Amino acid sequence: MCHAVLQDPAFFHLLTRIDEEFAAATRLGRCPGCAGPLHVADFPRKPRGCPAAVREDYSWRLSFTCGLCDARATSPSVRFAGRRVYLAVVLMLDSPPGGSSGQALCDLLSIPARTLKRWRTWWRVEFALTPFWQSVRERFMPPVTITQLPPSLLERFDAGTLADRLAQLLRFIAPLSTRPMAK
Ligand SMILES: [Zn+2]
Repeated sequence: MCHAVLQDPAFFHLLTRIDEEFAAATRLGRCPGCAGPLHVADFPRKPRGCPAAVREDYSWRLSFTCGLCDARATSPSVRFAGRRVYLAVVLMLDSPPGGSSGQALCDLLSIPARTLKRWRTWWRVEFALTPFWQSVRERFMPPVTITQLPPSLLERFDAGTLADRLAQLLRFIAPLSTRPMAK
């Protein structure tokens, strides 16, 4: 994957706008428990893997609490993957950890090589077993090759630039972002 997109603030702003759309929809849906009104209750995050220019923007996860029962309602996100400290887009990286491009990437984003390795395992083992993937995988014909995730899934989103395709894929897997994904 081209690393330029990971240094382009415009790409990160695009993801913020998608998260704002998700948040607006969540708020309109009211409290899932009691249908009470939702109030803004964003919570702080320490983002890793984003350009300095967007760090402030990426220091908050958009979320709400119910005005009646106080339950939390967090909207899906294309920026944050569950409780992982790295941004969701970093999950899309597929460089082999041992290769030179993998090393360059780890240096660029200060990601330990073992972390990239763990994500590869997450895609190929845990993601493949999620109820989410089980419910959508048949939309892809021919079937997506699990052993080549995530590039085998990214290539199915073929509109526009790499940034557009990444945004589409992140939007697609956003239902997973409100669950505690593997660390
Ligand atoms: Zn409520």
